[in-house]
Amino acid sequence: MEPLERIKSGFEHFKKEVYEKKPDMFAQLKEGQSPKFMVFACADSRVCPSVVLNFQPGEAFAVRNIANMVPPYDQTKCCGAGAAIEYAVHHLKVENIVVMGHSRCGGIKGLMSIKDDGTTSTDFIEDWVKICNAAREKVKAEHSALSLEDQCTRCEMEAVNVSLQNLKTYPFVKEAVEKNSLKLIGAHYDFVSGSLETWEC
Ligand SMILES: [Zn+2]
Repeated sequence: MEPLERIKSGFEHFKKEVYEKKPDMFAQLKEGQSPKFMVFACADSRVCPSVVLNFQPGEAFAVRNIANMVPPYDQTKCCGAGAAIEYAVHHLKVENIVVMGHSRCGGIKGLMSIKDDGTTSTDFIEDWVKICNAAREKVKAEHSALSLEDQCTRCEMEAVNVSLQNLKTYPFVKEAVEKNSLKLIGAHYDFVSGSLETWEC
């Protein structure tokens, strides 16, 4: 199918099967959104949070990037992530932020494959995934005997933990967590075994 045809037929399907079948829901969403969740998920085409976690329109404010990483608070770098977090926490007042890693993540494999001297060969990718370099270091130190594949699985989890810690470097996140109005949740979706692991931070 031609790409434009694919997009149009996809929308027609959505309109007929979802939009027109839930008029009350969409009438309410016209007035505004008040999602309870913010989700960080990987850009990987296999891990769409609306599909995997069955989020309906209006339920989750989502950010997708390479390897579902949350950079630490920095007003000069990665402001896209900062703006999204600020909007979700300050304006939408989400009650949960979920960081969902996943199996066989190419971004995490890229992170684990960075040379020990730190030299990189990509324009953007390696510098981006270095956000979770602490996870790489931890896995290399504690699980050096494991195969690269198993190290990557560990790193997928550890990188989620680094991102959860990074979230707390945003003053408005820290404040909301301390007030108990915001929960930070880690998750790992394994599409090989078809399972989901979750943990609270
Ligand atoms: Zn990924």
